This record gives sequence, structure tokens and C-alpha cells, in this order.
Amino acid sequence: MYLYNSATHKKEEFKTHTPGRVEMYTCGPTVYHFAHIGNLRSYIMEDVLEKFLRYTGYDVNRVMNITDVGHLTSDADEGEDKMVKGAKRENKTVMDIAKFYTDAFFEDCRKLNIKRPDVVEPATNCIDDYIKIVSTLIEKEYAYLAGGNVYFDSSKLSRYYVFNDHDEEDLAVGVREGVEEDTNKRNKNDFVLWFTKSKFEDQALKWDSPWGVGYPGWHIECTGISLKHNGEYLDLHCGGVDNAFPHHTNEIAQSESYLGHEWCPHWLHVAHLNTAGGKMSKSKGEFLTVSLLEEKGYDPIVYRYFCLQSHYRKALVFSYENLDNAAAAFNKLVNRIAGLKPEGEVDQAVFAEYREKFVKQMSNDLNTSMGVTAIFDVLKAKTTDATKLAILDDYDKVLSLDLVKKAEARRAEQAKAKTAETECGYTVTGEGDPAIDALVLARYEAKKAKNFAEADRIRDELKAAGIEIVDTKGGASWKRV
Ligand code: AMP
Ligand code: ZN
Repeated sequence: MYLYNSATHKKEEFKTHTPGRVEMYTCGPTVYHFAHIGNLRSYIMEDVLEKFLRYTGYDVNRVMNITDVGHLTSDADEGEDKMVKGAKRENKTVMDIAKFYTDAFFEDCRKLNIKRPDVVEPATNCIDDYIKIVSTLIEKEYAYLAGGNVYFDSSKLSRYYVFNDHDEEDLAVGVREGVEEDTNKRNKNDFVLWFTKSKFEDQALKWDSPWGVGYPGWHIECTGISLKHNGEYLDLHCGGVDNAFPHHTNEIAQSESYLGHEWCPHWLHVAHLNTAGGKMSKSKGEFLTVSLLEEKGYDPIVYRYFCLQSHYRKALVFSYENLDNAAAAFNKLVNRIAGLKPEGEVDQAVFAEYREKFVKQMSNDLNTSMGVTAIFDVLKAKTTDATKLAILDDYDKVLSLDLVKKAEARRAEQAKAKTAETECGYTVTGEGDPAIDALVLARYEAKKAKNFAEADRIRDELKAAGIEIVDTKGGASWKRV
């Protein structure tokens, strides 16, 4: 598989430390509010990536953190803890809102067919791990104490800016507009590993440490959790593009300094979902959530389809018009698949040929829009319907659009609505089973011929089979109860 690597700025053949096994890490949500559909774009694309790796035979160990402490409003070391801010907003404890929004996040993931990672670890579970790493970084003189906090010393690194070719001055945290410079820092890129003194006094959760009672910085949590569950050699690290700096840059700095060897060779960043007005944010404008889309009548899977139509490295603009277009296309696709008859033999040669094509398209830097196009190619293929359905089901192991399942439901609905028999002005409607329609009609014929014993026998037979008959104007309708 070829994947773009943000660390080397090129598309590369994806290789793993242990052949056949992928140690994969994903930065999880900060659970101070609902995830917006921009956050979920990142998780959808990472889910497709994980599933595609499994599809091509890898054994994947996917780890995700849940940020429930230490993520400050600036992404760097300034501002308030987002969790404390969320708790104040709702007049609840930090742990209460962490639980509530973690559950809400996984509920959104379920609706979007995003698989739960193999390991999900809240940051507050691993305090001892961070303390051990920070202690070693101090011993190795990569970290220093100043003003009560422990800082990482970025001057000890030969290369700090690993992801971007930006001007150092543009990225320097200390000189960001409106951000007060932290005078404890020896260098402008130094960052906090452990806080005992922050700019705000009311941090809710604090732990004892060799440097005093305090709490971990945001970046150290991902290093700690990944080392704990992925081991020393990580193969693939993912996140949204805003995570690249300073978060991932700092993760690399501290992990490699701690380990003394390269940590993770491959980095994947998902471009943002934007609105016409710019970056999607939880604090401004309409807060776009999966629940809001549902309230407006959209199936969440349509949003997944919308995301898959674009490449993960291109910014995607959300508008209801764009989503409507995706919904219409998705609906047509389901109808076309519902038109396939699940009959006939599966042609294994055709199946293998289409699987290979799909792998080739998706192997080109996770080209999901080509993956979606592959569905249309299957529909046009010269083969049996059973083969087409088998291929679509197979693609769905990666795309998770439930196409075949939705098509089956659509077929059943259509059959239900279909008028079964019309004879002598007597209409039988039901769930699309001609044998039952015939029995209902036979009961009517028996009644008409005043053969009530036979009519009752048929009614009892249908009842025993769990069929309920309701007389309608000019006929009868039946259903399974
Ligand atoms: P957070 O909950 O802020 O920690 O973010 C969770 C994930 O969503 C991170 O991987 C972010 O990089 C990602 N993310 C944030 N905003 C967007 C966006 N507008 N589009 C896509 N991904 C985003
Ligand atoms: Zn992270």
C-alpha cells in the first residue's frame, strides 16, 4: 500500500516494524463537548484506513486515547483546560462530563459505522506512565524544572519541525498573537510535560508527582498511552491536520528522546472539514453534530458516504446542498442494488478480479473516491447478480456503507407495498409471499362459497404460521406478527 507520509512529505510504500502487523495510534477526542462532524471526518477516514489494512491481511492493533485532562484551549500551554471549561459550562464534575461525552462520541461512531479501536484509554488512567517518562526525560537532560512546571527542552533536538516547512517564526507558540509568553521557557518551542502551576488555578484533577501536585500536559498523554499499548515501535500515527503542530511535533520530540531511537516512521493527517465560512468549530455558528443531521432527516451513513467521496488529504466543504447531493446519489445506489436478485452462483473468478481492482485503487493513498467508483463498476459488470452482491458485501468490509443491508430492507419495503393479487375485485396486500397471498385469497373464496369450516381452517393455519389478517376495504392485508 502507498500512503502519503506527512513526516517525509511524500507518498511511500507502507512498511511495518513487524511484518504483517500494524501498530496504529489515533489521537482521540477531547471529551468536553459533542464531537462535530469535522472531528468525525477524521475518524471516518482513519476507520477506513484501519479496515483496509485488515482487508489486505494485516493484523492491526489500534489504540486511541480519550483526552480527559490537560488539553488547554490554545493547543499549547496557554489558556484554560478544555475539560474544566466544559464542566463549568454544564455545572457538572469533569469526570461526569468526560463520561457523558465519551459515551456520546462512541454513539456517534456507532451510527457512522466507525469501529471501536482495539484499545481505548482515558488519559487519566495512565498518570504513572507519564511520571515515569517525564522522570527519564529529566534524567537524560531533555527536560528541566522551571517555575513549578516541567518543560521539554527543544534545543536538545537537532530537528524539531518535522511536519512543516513553515517559517519557524510563524509557528512559534510564544509569539502567537494574543498569547502571553511563558517566561519559564528557555526556548520558544519548549512545552510543558507536567504542570504544577498553570495560568489558571482551578484545575479539577491533580495527582501527586516528584515535582509536586499537578497534572500532565496534553502531548505526553499520547506518548504514554501509545508506549503502553503499542510498544516502542509504532508503525502509523493518525490525526486531523491541526494535530500536526504542536501536538504531534511534541509527541515525536519527547518519545524519541525518551526511547533513544526512532519512534514512528509514518504519519497520516486528515484535512479539515470546513464550512463555507471557514474552519468548523464547536464555539461558533451552528454546531454540526451527527444528532443534528439526524434531526434534519439525514441518515448518518449518508454523511459517511459524503466523506468517502473525497480524498482525505483535501479539505472538504460542508454544506447542506452538498450533503443533499450525496443523499440523492446514495439513495439511487441503494435502489440499484435493491434491483439485483440475490440468486445464482457467485463467480469466484470475477469476485477475485474485482477484489484486486478495489485493492489497487484503495492502495493508492487510500483513494476512497475511487473505492466508491468501484461500487458503480461492479453494478455495470457482466456477471450474475449474486456475484455483484458478494463483491459489494466484500467492499463493505472497508467502506462500511451497509449498501447490501439497506438494499435488502428497501426490497422488503417494496415487496410489502406491492399489491399481491387482485381477483373478482378482492385485493390482497402483504409482505410479498405469493403462497400466503394464495391462502388469504382461498379463505375469501371459501367464505364466498359459504364453506365456513374451510375458511376457519385456513384462518387457523395462517394464525399458526404467525400471520395476521386484517380486512380492508375491498380485500385483506396480512402481516407477520
Ligand atoms: P479534539 O476533540 O479537538 O481533540 O479533536 C479530535 C480530532 O478531530 C483530532 O484528530 C483533530 O485533529 C480532528 N479535527 C478537529 N477539527 C477538525 C475538522 N474541522 N475537520 C477534520 N478533523 C478535525
Ligand atoms: Zn495525540
